[in-house]
Amino acid sequence: MSDPHELKVLNPATEEVVATVPAAGAQDVDAAVERAARVQPKWAALPPADRARQLRRFADTVDRHIEELARLEVREAGHTIGNARWEAGNARDLLLYAAGGTERLLGSQIPAPGGWNVTFHEPLGVIGVIAPWNFPMPIAAWGSFPALAAGNAVVLKPAETTPLTALRLAELALEAGLPEYLFQVLPGHGHTAGRALVDHPDVAKIVFTGSTDTGREVMERCARLVKPVTLELGGKSPNVVFADADLEAALDPFSFLDNAGQDCCARTRVLVQEPVYEEARDLLADALASVVVGDPADEKTRMGPLISRRQVDRVRSYVPEDAPALRGVAPDGPGFWFPPTVLTGERPDSPAAGEEIFGPVAVLLPFTDEEDAVRLANDTPYGLSGSLWTRDIGRALRVSRAVRAGNLSVNSHSSVRYWTPFGGFKQSGLGRELGPDALTAFTETKNVFISTEGPAQ
Ligand code: NDP
Repeated sequence: MSDPHELKVLNPATEEVVATVPAAGAQDVDAAVERAARVQPKWAALPPADRARQLRRFADTVDRHIEELARLEVREAGHTIGNARWEAGNARDLLLYAAGGTERLLGSQIPAPGGWNVTFHEPLGVIGVIAPWNFPMPIAAWGSFPALAAGNAVVLKPAETTPLTALRLAELALEAGLPEYLFQVLPGHGHTAGRALVDHPDVAKIVFTGSTDTGREVMERCARLVKPVTLELGGKSPNVVFADADLEAALDPFSFLDNAGQDCCARTRVLVQEPVYEEARDLLADALASVVVGDPADEKTRMGPLISRRQVDRVRSYVPEDAPALRGVAPDGPGFWFPPTVLTGERPDSPAAGEEIFGPVAVLLPFTDEEDAVRLANDTPYGLSGSLWTRDIGRALRVSRAVRAGNLSVNSHSSVRYWTPFGGFKQSGLGRELGPDALTAFTETKNVFISTEGPAQ
């Protein structure tokens, strides 16, 4: 039986134990929050330029360790080395971007009779960040770095399967000279350490990324303390391909295979207009057959393993052996492998077409016209991202306004940039991360009226 007090980190490509780390319990969370609450007011009181300088030093330190962080992510999460380098670079770039925000956290001056009215963005205090295993480094960074820049302290609980890069980032923060206990990482189980962080009265806000079910529980628990929460949850995003689209670009299989499909923005519902449906299916079949799946440390590999045996079993439950599908190949033997797959015989209301599978599996569905495309695209409780492909600019504008999702791309599959807002409609989440308002999300607005009439006599 596994020891609840320690976490065994497995290499998903080999199933070998990479590291064993102690699992934090509720008392460890209490102690970490107390330490964070002690250091936070001093951090918030620093001149913004000093906070910015320290965060830039942290960014420089991360920059010197990009390759090391990337290799660690390959080992604990099975990310391809190319992706992992991008992820470490994303953490560095976000630090620099957030550092630039400390001196631009501007209030406003609002005309009011009899005096001056000004607003301030006050830091919240201690922020609890709960991160998932699919993008351990970027998601830890998105929740934590803007919060630090806005004058808060952070206690981060990474996923139990992937604590290593987050722990290393916290070491690098100290090495760069950030105050001790300002950015603490506490690996642990969700139902103990995660819940303790959510329930702690001195944690001023929770930033949670993960499944919609757990997010709902986190929100309910936060509601008891009227604690603000940002939720980045699941997705089942559409890729809407009209007949006039550049089909090869539109049907890039990495729109749903990146990170082995363990991506909340994966375009796993491929909606194709009827006249080009057959052609699209043939293109996808060729594309899947050429995807190199294997050792994620190999520079030529395009898709690595899934995170765990549990995730492979979950994905397999949506793909019966005899299901009509296009299939690529994946390695046999040790490791958590699943081949790239496109299901071709699903109905729009089947579980595979409606639920977040979180693996390298998409469904291919036909549509008739623009109205049908929008109806299908919106026929989901999720609303995180999506792509649409057409050469008709009027249609691109109409459809991008009609699809109910937070992050859309037209004639592109891109969705996340640290300098643009990211988050979901409907059950994909609440609130936004990143972008120009990233720091403000970690503040309370204070309104102060200053009378010019002098003290009352
Ligand atoms: P969870 O949502 O359960 O886990 C995400 C994070 O929350 C982890 O750090 C987890 O800790 C923690 N957690 C779990 N339970 C609680 C709780 N009660 N209170 C506070 N924190 C908690 O996702 P799973 O790892 O179970 O993955 C299941 C499915 O969720 C996936 O197949 C996928 O569909 C979806 N998912 C979506 C993600 C997204 O980015 N939208 C990311 C990850 C998963 P621990 O690691 O100990 O469980």
